[in-house]
Amino acid sequence: MNRIILLGPPGAGKGTQAKLLSQELGIPHLSTGEMLRAAAAQGTELGRRAEAFMSQGKLVPDELVLGILRARLESSDTRRGFILDGYPRNVAQAESLVEITPIDHVLYFEIPEGVLVERLSQRRNCPTCGTVYNLVTQPPKVPGRCDRDGTPLVQRSDDTEEAVRTRLRVYREVTLPLLDQYRRQGRLRTVSASGSVDEVAARVRAALA
Ligand SMILES: [Zn+2]
Repeated sequence: MNRIILLGPPGAGKGTQAKLLSQELGIPHLSTGEMLRAAAAQGTELGRRAEAFMSQGKLVPDELVLGILRARLESSDTRRGFILDGYPRNVAQAESLVEITPIDHVLYFEIPEGVLVERLSQRRNCPTCGTVYNLVTQPPKVPGRCDRDGTPLVQRSDDTEEAVRTRLRVYREVTLPLLDQYRRQGRLRTVSASGSVDEVAARVRAALA
């Protein structure tokens, strides 16, 4: 079975790798945000409760997220496994997760802070259509302009170096105890997330083999 958890700071490339793995292994990529939005769109009871929090811009409580995840894991497309991206985020969530499903692999995307800051500081957004570019890895065809609509690209205020360092500090405080716990259990595999998408994908495959 490939019941996989991907851990790592924002900008480490978990989402990109999760999509590749999902196609390769034929198992769903479960990101918390997408799962909550899907449940809300389907109008399930838990989904409607989650929507009430989201529409007020509030954090959805842990037990509600867990209920929606539990329901999602009952779908037949998870028979051969799944990729959890963005969950669990802390020790309490990891302990609840154990109650609803076994986990086969925990991969931690490790990346030096300097590389991450540089990567995120190259991000540019189109304020019209929301497309995200990276000046190094995914540049627009015409410098500074959106490919779709020609709008001048902007840098989001939370992609500035100072904002990125703050986000990383918060991430480390919450997640380090979780990493320690998986490490003590002997389940944590560390994958270097520096380098190209293909290089990281090869390391991910090796870690799962
Ligand atoms: Zn655009």
